[in-house]
Amino acid sequence: MGVINLLKPLRTRIRGGSTQSASPNSGAGPEPGSPPGAAKRERADQLSERVRRILVTTLYAQPSSLAIGALCTVAAASVSAWIAELPELYVAAVILTIIGVARVVAALGLSPDSENTSTAVLELVYEVGAFSYALALGCTAAFTILIGTQTQVEVLMVANALGYGIGVSARNAGRPTIAIGQLALTCLPIALAAFWAGGAGFIVLGITIILLIPAMISIAGNIFTVLRDSIASAETSARLADKMQVLARTDVVTGLANRAGLNHAMVETMMGVDEDSRLALIWVDLDRFKEVNDLLGHPVGDRVLSEVAKRLREVAPEAGTVARFGGDEFIVFCPISDSKDAARLASEIHAEIMRPFRIDGERLEVRASLGVALLPDNGTDADTLMQSADLALYHAKVGGRSQTCFFDSSMTRDLVRRREIEDELRAAIQRDELSIFFQPIVDLETGRIKTFEALVRWFHPEKGELRPDEFIPVAEETGVIVTLGNWITAQAARIAATWPEDVTVAVNLSPLQIRAPGAALGIKNALREAGLDPRRLELEVTESLFIEDNHSTAAFIEELSEMGVRFALDDFGTGYSSLGYINKFPFSKIKVDRSFVSGAQVGKKSDAIIRAVAEMGNTLGMDIVAEGLEEIEQVQAVRDAGCNLGQGYYFSRAVPDYLAAMLLAQEREQDLRAASA
Ligand code: C2E
Ligand code: CA
Ligand code: CA
Repeated sequence: MGVINLLKPLRTRIRGGSTQSASPNSGAGPEPGSPPGAAKRERADQLSERVRRILVTTLYAQPSSLAIGALCTVAAASVSAWIAELPELYVAAVILTIIGVARVVAALGLSPDSENTSTAVLELVYEVGAFSYALALGCTAAFTILIGTQTQVEVLMVANALGYGIGVSARNAGRPTIAIGQLALTCLPIALAAFWAGGAGFIVLGITIILLIPAMISIAGNIFTVLRDSIASAETSARLADKMQVLARTDVVTGLANRAGLNHAMVETMMGVDEDSRLALIWVDLDRFKEVNDLLGHPVGDRVLSEVAKRLREVAPEAGTVARFGGDEFIVFCPISDSKDAARLASEIHAEIMRPFRIDGERLEVRASLGVALLPDNGTDADTLMQSADLALYHAKVGGRSQTCFFDSSMTRDLVRRREIEDELRAAIQRDELSIFFQPIVDLETGRIKTFEALVRWFHPEKGELRPDEFIPVAEETGVIVTLGNWITAQAARIAATWPEDVTVAVNLSPLQIRAPGAALGIKNALREAGLDPRRLELEVTESLFIEDNHSTAAFIEELSEMGVRFALDDFGTGYSSLGYINKFPFSKIKVDRSFVSGAQVGKKSDAIIRAVAEMGNTLGMDIVAEGLEEIEQVQAVRDAGCNLGQGYYFSRAVPDYLAAMLLAQEREQDLRAASA
């Protein structure tokens, strides 16, 4: 009761629109306050720096080409020296050899792929080598012209130098200054020597070389532009692809990894583990989170999720992954030292989530169930580990929520049983394996049976008798509940029609059954086929039905109560009780849950609660049933507390229809005897 009242002011405020929706990702944009163009410029600078790096790297590509070029030139200079018998050319050959070897060594030694060598150093080293080599080669060729040696020597050296200059300016177009510098340093000495030597042939050679320089500058420039642009656009696409990948792996609400992100992180982590590492997968499911969403609206729900995400990130180890796995489920996947470590982490996580939240100054409590599976004990691959944690979580929820369960192998057996139930449930109706038992609800003053509650039983040919708690939830999950529910109502109505007029029948309805389309029609058909007066049918519903402010629920109750069908509020006191819907819907009966009569916490407090409910019932003209009466003392206590009806093993267990008929017949017989006496 308290929770709802506590939350109300918050809800009103939110509906009033004064609450801003929280955006946990708002930190992802540019720094607040920085000029809008600055970030863009910075990105462009970063990009051009990376492009420059790639272009410089091309200078160092294939050091073998440097070696081959140097070898040819040294050979040309040596052959020229030998033909012309000029010692200067031997010296030139030695200088070229030294520079060539130094360059190849530098290219092999400096690795452009390593982040440690700066782009500027790489560029400078290459530049020094390239320029000195080009100058040495240009001067050697110019020297052969100047001293007027044999024609074949001049042709050999000039052709070699020009070929090198032109070839290298295309090869190094990625760094235009280097390309053009090398071209100029090889060509200009030759052109100058040609002009100096004079004569028509040499003059034309000089002019040709001078014209060659701007032509090559333009060609190198074009190559550079194409190279730079294509590298830049490839870089941009790669960056975009990276960004898209990050987005695809991130949950928008919490900023945590999403399902895809978790899968990725799990695969990465599991590939990197060695034999004795241990990992824990902790699956966290917020209890009744749907109610937070339904009562307070999605914006508040989202903020709770973000806050849970923040807390999980704080407690989870650095090396771990925290992910949001759909609606209100989270997963923490991390290395641990042993199972004790996992237990400690799970209890820290649990405690963190249970710590009350403050949202807009309002206090809000959230609970969670945890399922834990360990690698390698409970699975050695991601899928098995997830299945194990899921099963452990399922057990934590079934075992009463707000608890932590560690996987153990018996859980797999339970799951198998559940699956079998799922498969066989549909067939069970046709095979006549289901039947309805009846448990009397007795007037505490007269001891007479007023109503029989219909309780379904499944007599399975192999598994024996199955309790509804075992298969009704499966029927709800699989949707079979609608068919099953209609069948139960039809059977119960048919049998009730054979009882005396003043005895009514109560049928339990699952919320899912009521919300299904055509729910009222199913009940009406059952009544018509059995020929039962609608006033003799009572439908038991639980508080969970009203959590969602559902139009179809209200219409269902209204339509049937207009016909005379009565409604009872079952298991009262176990849910998020609110008196609001007792007022809103026409209940004729409240059934106080058996935990108030025979549970562990029975005492003064529960006695006071029963008294208060009974008093309210008296005032509003409702019957109050105490459930689960097993001892005479309990019967006396609830009667003293003001309950007018009782149900429980003290009076009778649920019995087959013929025994129910016998109980009624006995009563009539006693009546007759009393009348005749
Ligand atoms: P419920 O509606 O609260 O039904 C009462 C349950 O308490 C029954 O268990 C009944 O056998 C048990 N019970 C009655 N008196 C005592 C007692 O003195 N002590 C103890 N310990 N238990 C007592 P059952 O038949 O196993 O049903 C369990 C639940 O399954 C029911 O709780 C009801 O929620 C659901 N259920 C049963 N039949 C149907 C059905 O036909 N349709 C739907 N939708 N739900 C059903
Ligand atoms: Ca019931
Ligand atoms: Ca009940």
